Amino acid sequence: NYRARSAFKLIEIDDKYAILRPGSVVIDCGAAPGAWTQVTVERINAEGKDASHSKGQVISVDLKYFQPINGAVIIDQSDFTLESTQKLIFEQMQKNQADVIISDMAPNASGMHAMDHENIMVLCQAAFGFAKQVLRNNGIFLCKLWEGGQSGKFKKDLAKTFKTVKIVKPDSSRKDSAEMFFLARGFHRTV
Ligand code: SAM
Repeated sequence: NYRARSAFKLIEIDDKYAILRPGSVVIDCGAAPGAWTQVTVERINAEGKDASHSKGQVISVDLKYFQPINGAVIIDQSDFTLESTQKLIFEQMQKNQADVIISDMAPNASGMHAMDHENIMVLCQAAFGFAKQVLRNNGIFLCKLWEGGQSGKFKKDLAKTFKTVKIVKPDSSRKDSAEMFFLARGFHRTV
């Protein structure tokens, strides 16, 4: 009973790469209607149902309004690209660093490939910019994109600040052929 089929993409990615651990602090960007948040709440023990593990925290952000989810902090009707929204997220974080940033953010697709690509890359860049500020050492960044002219450069930029960057295409998103995820692991601050 997930709110959207997109849940299965995150389940598939997490089953393979184990990015969500009990006790993790996770920021879910572009979270409405909340399926990824539901999966995350379960896997990081955000409700503290598993007393033998530490309790995680997920903060879920979206432009749209969405229904509350037990165990999650919801920041809805908020544009993630705004500094004011990112400040709000930071204020809600139970630790001053995050373990994992996940972004399924996507603009409304126009069908014009180049334009849709550019628009989603703005969201990817915003998520990456925020990740660089709040991720802990060795933290994880997962981000959806639609392939296009900027993908290669973005992957290179990620590789400067993460140990590994993988392109992930879950079977559950095959029907949407242009969609892929960049999974960057092993964050380290440059400078
Ligand atoms: N992961 C979600 C789930 O499993 O329920 C589905 C996310 S949906 C594919 C993409 C979301 O990105 C939309 O809800 C949209 O409102 C959101 N979005 C697009 N631009 C955004 C922005 N600037 N700030 C926050 N959310 C944004």
